[in-house]
Amino acid sequence: MINHLKNLDNNYSRKLDSNDLNSTINDVCNKCGIEANRLTCLKKHGKEPEQAKFIVSTYHKGICDFCGKKKYITEVRDFFYPDFNLIKKKK
Ligand SMILES: [Zn+2]
Repeated sequence: MINHLKNLDNNYSRKLDSNDLNSTINDVCNKCGIEANRLTCLKKHGKEPEQAKFIVSTYHKGICDFCGKKKYITEVRDFFYPDFNLIKKKK
């Protein structure tokens, strides 16, 4: 049981936590994704990300799950599943 849980991918187990902001975010705009990736790298590695995002992303028009603005959005995967809890949500 414990071994099984340990083997789960970090990002996957994070998505199972319904109290976690990340579990509600699937598509975000460039600005939110890049900022979250930056803060995640600074926290995890203590430095700026080597890559801000995937070089090729498929954007579509929609509502950003983080800032709620109508923008071109793409999957959080393209920003390496950053931790959105690190960004303070602006009203
Ligand atoms: Zn956004």
